[in-house]
Formats: sequence, C-alpha cells, structure tokens
Amino acid sequence: MNQVVQIPTDPADAAGKVNLLDFDRQGLRDFFTQIGEKPYRAEQVMKWIYHHLESDFAKMTDVGKALRAKLDATCYVGPPKTLFDKAAADGTHKWLLGMDGGNAIEAVYIPEPTRGTLCVSSQVGCGLNCQFCSTATQGFNRNLSTAEVIGQMWVAAKYLGNITHQNRRITNVVMMGMGEPLLNFDNVVKAMSLMRDDLGFGLASKRVTLSTAGLVPMIDKLSEAIDVSLAVSLHAANDELRTELVPLNKRYPIAELTEACLRWIARKPRTSITFEYTLMKGVNDQPEHARQLIRFMRKLPTCKVNLIPFNPFPGTRFERSDADTIRAFQTQLLNAGILTMLRRTRGDDIDAACGQLKGQVLDRTRRQAEFLKRLDQGAVHAG
Ligand code: SF4
Repeated sequence: MNQVVQIPTDPADAAGKVNLLDFDRQGLRDFFTQIGEKPYRAEQVMKWIYHHLESDFAKMTDVGKALRAKLDATCYVGPPKTLFDKAAADGTHKWLLGMDGGNAIEAVYIPEPTRGTLCVSSQVGCGLNCQFCSTATQGFNRNLSTAEVIGQMWVAAKYLGNITHQNRRITNVVMMGMGEPLLNFDNVVKAMSLMRDDLGFGLASKRVTLSTAGLVPMIDKLSEAIDVSLAVSLHAANDELRTELVPLNKRYPIAELTEACLRWIARKPRTSITFEYTLMKGVNDQPEHARQLIRFMRKLPTCKVNLIPFNPFPGTRFERSDADTIRAFQTQLLNAGILTMLRRTRGDDIDAACGQLKGQVLDRTRRQAEFLKRLDQGAVHAG
C-alpha cells in the first residue's frame, strides 16, 4: 500500500519537513515518487541513512547535487534527541531520549561475549498496568512514531560505531522496553521491517524479537505482517495469579493465549516462542507454580522459558526471589525437560534492568483509567 505524505509547502519551514526515519523501504520509494524522483534513489538514500548512519544530505556523495538540495529543503533525518547517556560498569549502556511535552523514553544496550542486544521502547509509558513493572506506575501517554522507534536503534548504532553487515555491535533487538508494542502495531511493524531490511540494519528474523503481554488477536495479525521472533510475558501459568500480575489476562486468559501461540507456531514451524517469567518472592516462585508452568509448556514443546529475577523499584510491593529458590525453580523445569534460561541481571548501577525504565510521563492517570475501561469493555484489540 502506498504511503502518501504531505510535502511541506514552505521548504524553509523546518517544522514542516518530512522525517525520512518515518518510512520503511516501500514508504520511502513512494515518497520519492511523490517528489518526482526515481524510486531507486530512495534506496540509495536509505543506505546512507542506515549503513553509514548519515543524517547530512550534503555528505551523501553518490546522490546528485540537485536531489541533495531538494531533500535538504523538504526533509530531514531526525532521530530522537539524546538527553543523556550512561554506561554501567558491566558495559550496559542506557540512552535517555527526549520526546515532546517533556517526556522521555529509554533504550538500553546489553553487551555479551557473543552478541549485543538493544532493548527498544514502543510507547511513552504503558497502560497495561502489569503489577510488577516500573513503567506501569507511570501510566500511558502516547504511541511512538516509526521514527522514534527506529531512531532509538539509529542513536545507539551511531554511538556504538555499529556498521551494518560489517561491524555489528547490535546483533539483536528486543521490543521489550517501555510499552506494549502490539498496541502501536503499524509503527512498530514498520520500524521492525527497517531492522530486518538489508538496506536498513539487516538483522535476521530470529534476531528481532517482539515481546507482548498477550494481545491475542494482534499476535495473529503480527504473524501475517512480518517475520520476527515472539516473546510472551507470562509470569504465571494459572489464570487467577496471572490476572493479578498481568491484568490483560482477564481479557485474554491463558487458554486463549495458548491457542494463539499454537497458531503462531503452525504458521512459523521453525520458530520457537520465549515465555518470560519474572520470579517474585513468595508470589510465583514456589514448586506448585513451577508445576503449573511445566503443564503449560508441555502444550508448547518447541518453546522455551526465560526466568528473570525481579528487579525491585521504589514503591513496589514485590521482592526478588532468593538465589536458592530461583535455582530450585529452574532445576524443576529443566528436570521436566523444559528448555529454561536464567537471565542475569545487568546494568543494576544505572537502573537499566528490565522493568526499570523511568521516562517521565505526563497525564497518566486519565489516560490509564480510560484505557482500563476500554480493556474491560473488550475494546482494546483492534490495533
Ligand atoms: S510489563 Fe510491559 S506490558 Fe506490562 S505494564 Fe510494563 S511495559 Fe506495559
């Protein structure tokens, strides 16, 4: 489908310029056609933007002078502004990125010996109200644009000296930062297609993962829209406890979520789904909870579990499970033949661990109340 954009009538007006980070490849080709240029020129420019991380049209040397001048007058390459960045002792890096209205989001880079993972946000705040999540306490403000989602990767890639297809510092991306990505479907899918595109960041499908709290209809829609990997925030394998921890479970209970996951696997037989399970002391870390999780996983035998020790944040009523309990829980799963990984806590000294994203969100209470009302009425699934 062609993406038609409004061309600024006054090129001198920077505010009216078009941000090229808002387009996936097809969108950029359509835009170039619209401004009277050959679509293949769009791909030339795309390579400059994502392979060379160049935002200055004047430096795009294999693009004709006249086109460079036209682009400069009507467009810009506009990633979010970095308010500050911070490195932890273990190499984890966090960028606080400014949004309009005084809001901010965060992107976090986690280096490991064999890979570097960037955790990307999809919304300013989040309205799903998961009880153990720091972002949830801030409420929902708005969806991010495509440019704001892919721009997080652009900023991190530039900082890290990432070179697509050559020096990959970012080998994996997880849509696991602030927000429920499936509630910002179109922008997130476009941004992920830029992560995957050879002229974008060129990552394989198994290296781009979307994590959802379990929006069942949107999981189906995602499987049709793009080839990426899926993670599901499970955190409990019985409905009563999961509804308490992840209120979305009331709308889409575990049986429906299981069916959606089975449909995902049927469509993508060679892929596996990762189920994230945050371990909270005395809440969901007991042997009976492990047994429930084993029963759940038996229905999805090709999938795996990622255990995450809870990261406490100010004001939370939950505590991290102790090390022995975590080990026992993992052993119980492994003994039952469930592929189970334990996530190490990273970036503790810069609050970069999962569930600790701390962007400032305005107007949260009204929007959150509206959102929860719509959720109860079953209106939150149309995307
Ligand atoms: S865990 Fe994810 S979906 Fe749940 S409130 Fe936090 S950001 Fe939103």
